[in-house]
Amino acid sequence: MWIFLRNVSLRENEKGMALNQDTFESYCLDAPDTESVSSEYLRIHSELDKKSAEADWIAAIGSWDSLRRKISEWMNLTDIRFHQDTHNAQYQAAKRNSDELKPTFLDLEVGVKCRLIKTPYREIVAKEWGPHVLNLWECDIASFDPAIKEDLVKQSEQETAFTELLASAQFTFRGEQLTLPQLRKYSEHLDRKIRYEAATLRSTWFKSNAPELDRIFDKLVRLRHSMARKMGYENFVALGYRLMQRTDYDENNVAEFRAQVRDEVVPLCIDLKREQAKQLNLESMMAWDEPLYDPRGNPLPKGDHHWLMEQARGMFKSLGGGLDKLFSEMEQREMLDLTSRPGKAGGGFCSDLPKLGLPFIFANFNGTKDDIEVFTHEMGHAFQNYCSRLKPLSDYVWPTSEACEVHSMGLEFLSWPQMGLFFGAEADRFCKIHLLSSIAFIPYGTAVDHFQHLVYQQPQASPGERAAMWHEMEQIYLPWRQWGDLSNEAGGRFWQGQLHIFVSPFYYIDYVLALVCALQFWDSAKKDRQTAMQQYFALCRRGGEAPFRELVDSAGLQSPFSRGVLEGMVHKARACMKT
Ligand SMILES: [Zn+2]
Repeated sequence: MWIFLRNVSLRENEKGMALNQDTFESYCLDAPDTESVSSEYLRIHSELDKKSAEADWIAAIGSWDSLRRKISEWMNLTDIRFHQDTHNAQYQAAKRNSDELKPTFLDLEVGVKCRLIKTPYREIVAKEWGPHVLNLWECDIASFDPAIKEDLVKQSEQETAFTELLASAQFTFRGEQLTLPQLRKYSEHLDRKIRYEAATLRSTWFKSNAPELDRIFDKLVRLRHSMARKMGYENFVALGYRLMQRTDYDENNVAEFRAQVRDEVVPLCIDLKREQAKQLNLESMMAWDEPLYDPRGNPLPKGDHHWLMEQARGMFKSLGGGLDKLFSEMEQREMLDLTSRPGKAGGGFCSDLPKLGLPFIFANFNGTKDDIEVFTHEMGHAFQNYCSRLKPLSDYVWPTSEACEVHSMGLEFLSWPQMGLFFGAEADRFCKIHLLSSIAFIPYGTAVDHFQHLVYQQPQASPGERAAMWHEMEQIYLPWRQWGDLSNEAGGRFWQGQLHIFVSPFYYIDYVLALVCALQFWDSAKKDRQTAMQQYFALCRRGGEAPFRELVDSAGLQSPFSRGVLEGMVHKARACMKT
């Protein structure tokens, strides 16, 4: 066995997976060795070579799936540990090792997928697990070639360099030592002077690191373009869509959706921003004013971290569906790393350890209302993953990312009735801001997507030309934005703080598409909460067994690509804000 568990006691769950009873802290896996993995693959191929009965082939595919789960367990663990402490030399080395091994394992995996999409296996797979997995594998096959193995390793190196650089940012602000996520809490401070100071400090750091960020991104763009060319694509856009496993919509659908955002949402946001400025009694709203929505100050959670966790227990209990049991198990097994600290990577995500049988939540709480949004968001991902962990194929454990974001953003809205637990009498104010900031996010998220299309369509552009592209996006999608004397941002480099642009290309419109679906949960829960919750739980249980549009449809939601859906939801939200 090339992977083994140390210092752990095991029990078996209903699918025969080993469930570790110890905490995340003590969980330990040895790196897989290439030789053993390759010989496992040889064994699987020889099983498939045999003129066996269908059941034997299905069993061979099952043992391949188990192997994939083992590898992914180690890779996810390595990734989480590195994000927890980017300065730790041991974690850095493990991450490097994982990044170097990944293309080799991918090659082996794609080799099996190439066989399985052909007759006679194809028909057996479709009959046993449905046709969707074949479409997913076709995307995986179309997005890998042994010729790009070295480029993939180089890409990981640059992505890691970005993560480490941002995690190294340290600020002294009014006598306090802060990380980048911690500095964010001052971006919504009631005192305008403090907001401006925090924005200036952030801007100065990004300005002094702009040459390095430009260098890293330039390498990433060139690498991605070179991989696309080696695989016969004109540029990285089509390859990027395959990597996102988009099987039921394409570049044209996304371009049409962006046009709807420009036509319907941008004018509405211009109005909303004008109203926000009026509320805040500002003649001219600057970029550093935008995060503040309420003249009394954005509501803050009413207690410390310990208190917040206690409230969360109450929230998940009253939401039902088993959320409380999952949360309790995650707490006991320390599957949550929520607070910001020096050296910890930025952002938030939910990962899973399939053999351990639990999801893991990574976040950077900073004491603002955002913590509650991040909490419900990541717990939505965790819950869906937990519901789907026993799917017969690992391809169905997570859906594609725009569907994943419906689980997370859906729970953000469905947990509104519980917000009193965190905000007391200010819960309504929190909900109103949540809605307002969600609407304001639509043009921003769309700008990020449009920007990436421009970047990868013109891979030879210089860093300065890319800054001009972002500036153009701001003029189209965020025309109210004023950077004042923040020269780095005024010069078109605000996007350099957006993690996804560096490490998850094209993963951004997914949030916007998902938000249009999550808003439908918000709307239907107002009319019939019980049905909305049932539909939400049922959607989580389906995991990734169908493509995005089919999943959305089965949950009683309309596709965000359908004409009028975006417009309808945004206007409902607008009407609600006026009440
Ligand atoms: Zn998410």
